[in-house]
Amino acid sequence: MRQRYDVAVVGAGAFGAWTAYQLRRQGKQVALLDAYGPGHSRSSSGGETRIMRMGYGPDELYTCFALRAMKLWREFMRRSGQQLFLRTGMLWLARKQDRYPRESLHILTRLRVPCEKLSRAEVSQRFPQFCLRGIDWGLLEPEGGVLLARRAVQAVVAQAVADGVEYIGEAVQSPRAGSRLDAILTNTGRRVAAREFVFACGAWLPRIFADTVGKRMFPSRQEVFFFSVAAGSSSYTPPAMPAWYSYADNIYGTPDVENRGIKIGFDGHGPKFDPETADRVVTQRGLRSMRQYVRKYFPELRDSPLSETRVCAYENTSNGDFLIDRHPDVENIWIAGGGSGHGFKHAPAVGEYVAGLICGDARPEPRFAYATKATVKNRDVY
Ligand SMILES: Cc1cc2nc3c(=O)[nH]c(=O)nc-3n(C[C@H](O)[C@H](O)[C@H](O)COP(=O)(O)OP(=O)(O)OC[C@H]3O[C@@H](n4cnc5c(N)ncnc54)[C@H](O)[C@@H]3O)c2cc1C
Repeated sequence: MRQRYDVAVVGAGAFGAWTAYQLRRQGKQVALLDAYGPGHSRSSSGGETRIMRMGYGPDELYTCFALRAMKLWREFMRRSGQQLFLRTGMLWLARKQDRYPRESLHILTRLRVPCEKLSRAEVSQRFPQFCLRGIDWGLLEPEGGVLLARRAVQAVVAQAVADGVEYIGEAVQSPRAGSRLDAILTNTGRRVAAREFVFACGAWLPRIFADTVGKRMFPSRQEVFFFSVAAGSSSYTPPAMPAWYSYADNIYGTPDVENRGIKIGFDGHGPKFDPETADRVVTQRGLRSMRQYVRKYFPELRDSPLSETRVCAYENTSNGDFLIDRHPDVENIWIAGGGSGHGFKHAPAVGEYVAGLICGDARPEPRFAYATKATVKNRDVY
């Protein structure tokens, strides 16, 4: 007779991996299942890098969540002996009219999070690789940086398994349940029984729960580009270059990490996206406009060859707040998703929060509730 777990976690991306890890730390018997493997290329956590920042404009909830998450990332790195975070600094490029960075500065200062307000001249002096046309000032978070995303997810799963979590590399079928679920079925016909179930399936959640979550999540297609740096140059690698975000053009980037070239991506939501069936090839239109941004921000790299590209899903909820709550109709199914293009950094704190909800010692955050998610998209969190 197969074991009945305390919790079965479906999805070994950042949210599921950390949830399984934290539940095991609480002494739970945990099964962790994934259809394609932790941090695989089509998952939202499968990119090589993800930005860690504390600035969230006026949104103190996410600044505090990021602070807690950074503390847990550091604890995990000490425990696992793995360097999964590069403290490159995070630079916000702002215009006078941009409210968000001003509000970030206010919140970060009040919460005593290290940050510096830089004049245009100071940004230019410290980060000469940037062309600052149209930019008036910069907000620097020296403690911000880059998480080695794919590697980090695989390290968390490896540690969770070493701690006693059972990893099952199989796809879970959409559950059919009344008010409670006894077991989930996989593509091999395996039946996994548990007291509680967590579905941390990222942009796949709308497929699994089409009638409920599917109406409140809007996965979008996001393109990412890597451009080669000048031969022998150290201007585009840490510590010379930080992670960055520009409000003028809603684009973000990271320095050259793991010799892939500098990374640049659009933060505006792309078209509707199905992670299961979509090819991952960037569009010529996307490449053309990204080349214009390279010319604008990094004139020295104007003719640099494109070295790599990525296409993945922002797992958007209606407003950008996480969706972490019980399933509306099945009391022992938990949904942990809706990272909405900004969830990776928070994953350790998300895992801790989900484990706390299941163990009954976390106070639910209303903004993460299913009930606060609308069936019409209106992004409010950046
Ligand atoms: C281009 C891009 C840039 C981003 N940049 C940042 C950033 O700089 N900073 C930041 O904090 N966040 C960023 N994000 C957001 C962040 O990556 C996500 O919020 C986070 O990775 C979500 O993790 P997840 O575990 O919810 O989803 P995923 O990583 O997608 O994991 C879901 C897992 O569920 C599995 N699964 C799905 N269905 C099934 C099934 N039926 N059976 C078994 N397994 C299943 C999948 O195989 C997958 O591994 C970015 C996202 C994108 C796309």
